[in-house]
Amino acid sequence: MLRCHLLGHRFRFLTEGETMLWRCARGCGTEGSKRYPTAEDAERYARAFDREDQADLGRRAPLGLLPLRLLPAWRLRRR
Ligand SMILES: [Zn+2]
Repeated sequence: MLRCHLLGHRFRFLTEGETMLWRCARGCGTEGSKRYPTAEDAERYARAFDREDQADLGRRAPLGLLPLRLLPAWRLRRR
């Protein structure tokens, strides 16, 4: 998927017992899994990775929204 190529995968993390699973939320088919010694460990890592991914998204958002914010100002100036 082109979006994944440009922006990176948008992984969602979940757990199944001691196994942490991740899958790209855009449905490009990229997924993986990792086993941890206990279900608590898997849960903790999944939550931490999920949060990291969200934070990453937040950092990218302002850049993506910039053209939208500039557009009205540009329109006013031309009037
Ligand atoms: Zn992807």
